[in-house]
Amino acid sequence: MRPLLPGSTVGVLGGGQLGRMLAFEAHRMGYRVVVLDPAEDGPAGLVADDIVVGKWTDAKAALELAKRADVVTLETEHIPFEVLAELEKAGVALRPAAEVLRVVQNRLRQKQFLHENGFPQPAFAHVHDAASLADAVSVIGAPAVLKSLTGGYDGKGQSRALSAEGADEAWSRIGRQPCIYEAFVPFRAEVSVVLARGAEGAIAYYPLAENVHRHGVLHTTRAPARVDLAVAREAQEIASGIATALGHVGVMAVEMFLLEDDSLLVNEIAPRVHNSGHYTFGACATSQFEQHLRAVCGLPLGDPAQMRPAAMLNLLGDSWARGEPDWSAVFATPGAALHLYGKADARPGRKMGHVTVTAESADEALARCEAIHARLQPPG
Ligand code: AMP
Repeated sequence: MRPLLPGSTVGVLGGGQLGRMLAFEAHRMGYRVVVLDPAEDGPAGLVADDIVVGKWTDAKAALELAKRADVVTLETEHIPFEVLAELEKAGVALRPAAEVLRVVQNRLRQKQFLHENGFPQPAFAHVHDAASLADAVSVIGAPAVLKSLTGGYDGKGQSRALSAEGADEAWSRIGRQPCIYEAFVPFRAEVSVVLARGAEGAIAYYPLAENVHRHGVLHTTRAPARVDLAVAREAQEIASGIATALGHVGVMAVEMFLLEDDSLLVNEIAPRVHNSGHYTFGACATSQFEQHLRAVCGLPLGDPAQMRPAAMLNLLGDSWARGEPDWSAVFATPGAALHLYGKADARPGRKMGHVTVTAESADEALARCEAIHARLQPPG
C-alpha cells in the first residue's frame, strides 16, 4: 500500500474516547475521519467528519465505513473477527489485520499465543466444567483470578478466588462460563509498554509507564516508571517481540506485572492506542494517536521521545455524583491539561475524561494528579 497522505480518510471501527483523540490528531495533520458507532453522539462521532451509525457486529455497516475510507483501523479489540475478516475478503486495507484481533480478543487464544512464543505470563488453565476447575485449582492453587474468555475489560468478567475452597463460588460469580483460571500475582508494580509498529516493521517505544488500578480500572499512570533501565529494556523487548510475532501494525500496549525480583509477566495485550499512553499527548514529541495514524497510513513513525516527566489521572463518573465537577482544581494546577470525552451520562465507574500533568519529575506530576483527584471527589 502506498503511503496515505493528508487529505485521505481514515475509517475507525468504534466511536469512543480513543477514536475521539485519534480524530483530534488526524484533523491537526489534515486527514479526514469516519467512524462506525451505534451512537450518533458518541465521543468520536461528535468530532468526526462522517459517521456510519451501526453496531460493531454489523458487517454491512463496517463495509459502508470502508467504502468511505482509504484505510480502516479500530479503537476497540471487541469488533468481532468475522466482521474484520469480511472487510479483508472485500479487499479493504485493514490495519491491524484481522488475524491480530483473532488472537488477542479471546483470552485463551491470547494466552496460548504467549505460551507458544515463549513470552512470560502468570500460570493459567482453561476452565469449562467442574472437572477442569478442580484440575486448575490443584495445579495452580490459590489465590487466583478467574477471567472470562471474551468481552472482558477494565476488570469486567473477573472474579477472585482467595482460597481453593472458594474457587467454585468465584466461578459462579461470573456465571460458570468458560474462562481462564490464572494465578494471582503478588506484583510490586503494574507497568505497560506502549509502542508503535509501522507497516514495514519498524518499532518506536514510549518510556515504560507505571500504572495503578482501582477496582480493575486504571486510576493513574506515571511516566517514566520507577524501574532500572535494564527492566525497562526487557519490558520493551518482550512487547516488541509480541508486536512482531503478531505482525501488528499500529500502536499496541502490553500490560505487565513487575515482581519483587524484577521479573516481568505479561498480563494483557491491547492492539490499539491505550489509556496508559494518554500522557504522550502533551508530554512526548509524537503522541500515541499521531503515531497510530502514521503507522496505519504507512508513514514513517514519529519521534516517541518524552519531553517532560508526566502523569495521568482518569476521571470516572463518580466525580459527577453531585453534578458537574468544579474544574478550578485542574485549571489552577501548573502543567495540568483537562481532556473530557463529551459523554452526557456520567455513570459511576464510566471513563468520562482524564487529566494529564507534566512537571519537573514524574513523582511531582503524580502528586498533582492525586491532589486534583482528592479535590474532585464529591463531598461525602
Ligand atoms: P485485566 O482486565 O486482566 O487487565 O485486570 C484488571 C486488573 O486486575 C489488573 O490491572 C490487575 O490490577 C488486576 N489483576 C488481573 N489479573 C491479575 C493477576 N493474575 N494477579 C494480580 N492482579 C491481577
